[in-house]
Amino acid sequence: MIERKAFYIGGEWVLPSAGDITEVRDPATGELVGVTPRGSADDVDSAVAAARGAFESWAATPPRDRIAVLDRVRDGLRERNDELADLISSEMGAPQAFSRVAHARMAVSNFDFAARAMEEILDEGEETIGSTLVVREPVGVVGAITPWNFPLHQISAKVAPAIAAGCTVVLKPSEVAPLSAYVLAEIFAEAGLPAGVFNLVGGAGRVVGERIVTHPDVDMISFTGSTEAGVRIAELAAPSLKKLTLELGGKSANVLLDDADLAVAVPAALKQCFANTGQACAALSRLLVPRTLLAEVERVAAEAALTWTVGYQSDPSTKLGPVASLDQQKSILGYIDSGISEGARLVTGGSTPPIDTGAFVSATVFSDVTGDMTIAREEIFGPVLSIMPYDTEDEAVRIANAVPYGLSGGVWSGDRDRAVAFARHLRTGQVVINGQPLNLRAPFGGYGRSGVGREYGRYGLDEYFEIKSLQGAGE
Ligand code: NAD
Repeated sequence: MIERKAFYIGGEWVLPSAGDITEVRDPATGELVGVTPRGSADDVDSAVAAARGAFESWAATPPRDRIAVLDRVRDGLRERNDELADLISSEMGAPQAFSRVAHARMAVSNFDFAARAMEEILDEGEETIGSTLVVREPVGVVGAITPWNFPLHQISAKVAPAIAAGCTVVLKPSEVAPLSAYVLAEIFAEAGLPAGVFNLVGGAGRVVGERIVTHPDVDMISFTGSTEAGVRIAELAAPSLKKLTLELGGKSANVLLDDADLAVAVPAALKQCFANTGQACAALSRLLVPRTLLAEVERVAAEAALTWTVGYQSDPSTKLGPVASLDQQKSILGYIDSGISEGARLVTGGSTPPIDTGAFVSATVFSDVTGDMTIAREEIFGPVLSIMPYDTEDEAVRIANAVPYGLSGGVWSGDRDRAVAFARHLRTGQVVINGQPLNLRAPFGGYGRSGVGREYGRYGLDEYFEIKSLQGAGE
């Protein structure tokens, strides 16, 4: 059992102002895997003061020195890859094999790519527009608030670019999966990050999160989480007009065109929905299929679903670990019941947990799902795929765009140009063509209720700068 007693503030481990704790439990067994302190507004105030105090000097640090620190953090993360992966598996349920190659390694990449993006900006030099020199300056103190589904990835996607840009950070990780954030603080300390540049305060969204969002000395909020919390944060941040990036929910459509190779596309489409046990904001949870191919798609999907073995995180054959908590399981099973009661046809899976104890859910596929059904409209955040038939490509576009979200999407076709042409019609921040793996250097973010701003690589880094025109400093 891991016991964390202190927050990381101003380069030191500081005891919280009150003695409350958060219990972190393994969602498969209910076993206590860790305790972390639960912070207060006072703890946030200390962390913001430390971040503010460190800002001027970090912003003035030569960018190549900042890059060198990021590279050391990247190496530190790589050295502790398996330890971090196993921690994450124990707190939010991802299979260990998946955590090691995805959760932990994505964090390594985020630090690497933020550093490389900063180098690219330096190599390009500053822009001149006529008589004006355009310069970038770090935004200031960044409040980073993150969810549990890819805990370390989400943290690193914010903290790495913020620090590369010269900002200082106060991080509040998810109370469901906070443990990897504490290891990251250790890695920062070992990498020689100056005191106060990165600060960690844990606790409840309504207490610690809201104090960060409303704090007058915080210049920007970078939030990833539910649309509901994102809206609340936008409201709370409005009076002080903080800069905001919001990475929120999704209900993304994966469209099979009629020339797709079903034997490849359908099993891959299941993976695009079920990876991380369906707990991915960019999960492609609606599969749009030409009506003429529906029966064949259902057959391949039912067969492929059998390979999504449910089990404990440490079992190498597990592809679906437990979902993150019993609450999460209850919510997902409720959605499955709503699919049945609203008339969708169950192809495989269902609302009976495959293992009696623990937060397990079977790989579930519905067919004949229509746009008015709850499972077609709301983010389920579990291993539940809705197959929706369409008659024409125009109808497929309409169905895909008929939700208020716009985070991701997919297109499958034997002809890549045709897939790309179709993808241009989807009102969403990313479209995955023929199952291409995620590129962590390309921009990621949402249209509509999926959010504001972009993360990853160069575009993600740009969010952490103010742009200043020096009139008369140009040609
Ligand atoms: P959540 O919104 O409940 O919590 C996310 C974080 O926000 C947590 O740290 C929480 O404590 C904090 N928080 C909650 N209410 C707050 C408030 N009023 N003020 C300040 N902070 C607050 O989300 P979750 O359940 O942890 O994660 C699942 C959700 O995150 C899903 O909706 C998913 O789609 C979304 N998500 C989006 C992306 C993306 O990049 N777009 C990535 C991962 C997850």
